[in-house]
Amino acid sequence: MSHVLIVEDEPAIAESLSFALRRDGFTVDVAGCLSEAEDKIGRADLMLLDLMLPDGSGFDLIVRTRRRSSRPAIIVLSSRDDEADRVAALETGSDDYVTKPFSPREVVARVRAVLRRAQPPADATPLPEPVSPFPISVDSTTRRALVAGRLLELTRVEFDLLACLVEDPGRVYTRAQLIDRVWGDGFAITDRTVDSHVKGLRKKVLEAGGDPNLIETVRGVGYRMAAGEPAEAEAE
Ligand code: CA
Repeated sequence: MSHVLIVEDEPAIAESLSFALRRDGFTVDVAGCLSEAEDKIGRADLMLLDLMLPDGSGFDLIVRTRRRSSRPAIIVLSSRDDEADRVAALETGSDDYVTKPFSPREVVARVRAVLRRAQPPADATPLPEPVSPFPISVDSTTRRALVAGRLLELTRVEFDLLACLVEDPGRVYTRAQLIDRVWGDGFAITDRTVDSHVKGLRKKVLEAGGDPNLIETVRGVGYRMAAGEPAEAEAE
């Protein structure tokens, strides 16, 4: 259960917010001025903060709480529909901003949204392990290529194609660039020849126990070596 501190010197507003939040399952404290807020801030997961208070500006409290190691999320409440205020509120470190008059239900919805952002769910999926080492390795001096630790038996052209793609994972090579790199000038090589060598290369990677989809087709452009992330669907 989340605890909300309402810092507001107008009792009617504090009362209606307090009622709406309690009805929604929050526990609530109310402070009518900055000094009272400082006493009660320790327990709060979120603070609804009026900017104009009898003993000073709500901005001062935002700045002071920013230095604490654990501080509540902050939603600023203000009667001033002033863009400069809104920007200042966000820049000083509050999480959201609501302009009076507001409906208590709207504020409760914002409270929920801010708390959701502040606290990742406990069952969040852990980040995947980084892909390492890269599953295909190429040694240009010995002209040996390994996939998943196994040697690939490649033709001269297949080796040069693979070496070119592995050099810069994620970079897209056009077929013309690959022809230039692998065959060089003076050879009348068609795009279909490139495609058929890539097909042969993928087959050998698969036979060696590797993932042929590491060599990605970028439709309408050419080929690239996967950079360790899942392939994205390419728009034509
Ligand atoms: Ca006020």
